[in-house]
Amino acid sequence: MLIKTILNKCHKFKSFVYGKAYFSENESRQVLKIDILPRKNSKGICSNCHKPAPGYDRLEKREFEFIPLWGFSIFFVYTMRRVECPTCGIRVEEVPWADGKRHQTKTYMQFLAHWARKLSWKEVAESFQTSWPKVFRAVEYIVKWGLKHRDLSGITAIGIDEIQWQRGHKYLTLVYQINAERIRLLWIGKDRTVKTLLRFFRFLGKNRSQELRYVCSDMWKPYLKVIKKKASSAIHILDRFHIVARINKAIDEVRAEEYRRMEKDGYEPLLKHSRWCLLKRKKNLTEKQEVKLKEILNYNLKSVRAYLLKEDLNGLWNYVSPAWAGKFLDQWCTRVMRSKIEPMKREAKTIRKHKQLILNWFKAKKAFSCGIVEGLNNKVKVTMRKSYGFRTLKCTEIALYHVLGNLPEPKFTHRFC
Ligand SMILES: [Zn+2]
Repeated sequence: MLIKTILNKCHKFKSFVYGKAYFSENESRQVLKIDILPRKNSKGICSNCHKPAPGYDRLEKREFEFIPLWGFSIFFVYTMRRVECPTCGIRVEEVPWADGKRHQTKTYMQFLAHWARKLSWKEVAESFQTSWPKVFRAVEYIVKWGLKHRDLSGITAIGIDEIQWQRGHKYLTLVYQINAERIRLLWIGKDRTVKTLLRFFRFLGKNRSQELRYVCSDMWKPYLKVIKKKASSAIHILDRFHIVARINKAIDEVRAEEYRRMEKDGYEPLLKHSRWCLLKRKKNLTEKQEVKLKEILNYNLKSVRAYLLKEDLNGLWNYVSPAWAGKFLDQWCTRVMRSKIEPMKREAKTIRKHKQLILNWFKAKKAFSCGIVEGLNNKVKVTMRKSYGFRTLKCTEIALYHVLGNLPEPKFTHRFC
């Protein structure tokens, strides 16, 4: 069977035909090249207005990389024409297999991008004998196409989250759509300032912002301020995930401080390897961690008391009535304030201050569970961890949209992967 026959079966064009296929050498590697020719009497298409136009001249041969086959890189070879468009003047023609000046065919880019969702970009580059920058450009192409063609209607619930990015105190603000029928990453912004979130609302537009019914976020002040102003008709919910995350941070501080002090005073290193025992949910503990936790709980330590307070707070989420939940929250805060554990007291104060927003979760009938934002947050972390090689903001953005954006993709008649 001829290569041409296979290509005509899976990758056919209306105005172009495949010519001969031959082996050639590229950087001392055997590659397979296939000529493409315009169909007889077909006119070139103006790349600016997408209308047919009379021919003007021909440029030199260009090569376009296609999906590799049996370990051979594949290139289409085509002599680009220029057209004399009555409206746009002299332009390079548009070809259906590639976009602008890109040297990868659209199909190949989609193929690489597909695998980049399952493997790291480095692994994709190695698996398909290509380079990391080429994988990046492929993913970038698919993401940009998706962002341009995505549908932003029907967004009534969003979750706003921040994530530490790079080393030091650098943050990204992430906004998700969290409607039950559509969960996706909507927007990424540098920093976590008032300006950052204002940029999001500018992107969303006034009308869509007014359509928002629910906004979930943490207690970060700049966010609270902007949400109040820009999503005035929405119920603002401080959700469980963010509250637990803050308390975990406080426990971590208490534990670290106590650990240092005990070591200094010459006590046995009881709190060694205890970090995750205290931070993880009980049901997620490993057997070893469970044993360790049981051991620590026998001691009257600040870390233990802080941990028990956190465990008590879990009772809050079982309430149905906002009023009863409020009462429980008041009592819990009072107990924390008496505990003399400073980091915990700090969190109790914040919780008191934002009590109404926390109770909004009950008023919204628990419609938006913390699980959504938490799940997305974990996925973001995994993507970032896999991210060696893309340290810049641009690369991180592309990677996150690619994995979490739920973006539409260009449609092809044949599925290559
Ligand atoms: Zn034109």
